[in-house]
Amino acid sequence: MSFTKGKLIYEGKAKKIFTVQENENLIVHEFKNSLTAFNGEKKGEMLGKSRVNQKISSLLYKYLQKNGVPTHFIETLSDTEILTYKLEMIALEVVVRNVAAGSLTKRLGVEEGQEISPPLVEFYLKDDALGDPFLSDAQAIMLKLGTEDDLEELKRKALMINQLLFEIFEDMGLRLVDFKLEFGRDKDKAIVLGDEISPDTCRLWDIVTGEKMDKDRFRLDLGSVEEGYKEVLNRIENVLEVDS
Ligand code: UDP
Repeated sequence: MSFTKGKLIYEGKAKKIFTVQENENLIVHEFKNSLTAFNGEKKGEMLGKSRVNQKISSLLYKYLQKNGVPTHFIETLSDTEILTYKLEMIALEVVVRNVAAGSLTKRLGVEEGQEISPPLVEFYLKDDALGDPFLSDAQAIMLKLGTEDDLEELKRKALMINQLLFEIFEDMGLRLVDFKLEFGRDKDKAIVLGDEISPDTCRLWDIVTGEKMDKDRFRLDLGSVEEGYKEVLNRIENVLEVDS
């Protein structure tokens, strides 16, 4: 596909988004090296994060697509850039939890590490100024983020993605504790998975040692942040590149 990267239309904490001059239905995502936590209060930089997260996310999106999950991903353009369909994003963070950690332990007093079965799907409002608050289904409907059917579809898709990801991470010796997804609508109004899946957006614990391999290393000052991300990429490449 021949195209020209156009103008910057959005810059978030982890990515820049550019238009594609020849096709208004496509966009380019450029991954950034910045690391942020606690709603942007804690900031850092990890040289090479853009490349590692691009590779992790692209391999996972190809795997999901191959297994029947519609995603925005089209192709990798460079070490740090991907081409995707342009979606009209739904302002929800869809979080899936298999094991208690993070905000759930703080809010509900559940002990970290407790298994959550069946897995939990939660909605948060994507709004930095409000600190991404938790939303009930009724509140999401009130805010016109979707109909009851849309929310059911988001939950169904999130649980299907969870099942697929949980299995391959298990093959890699990693426990998928929790993760965040963002969805949007394509030009035909179908709900499609957008954004990224990476150690920035997942909690991954080594099954044998219990070691945290994700952004919690940055959040909690555990050290060796880059090594954790690179180890996740190595394991994903070993499992997913053989059959791609
Ligand atoms: N998460 C994310 N972006 C957010 C909030 C959460 O990617 O703005 C991810 C986070 O990395 C974790 C999961 O969603 O894998 C659940 O996060 P939690 O609600 O525990 O919030 P946290 O305390 O981690 O911000």
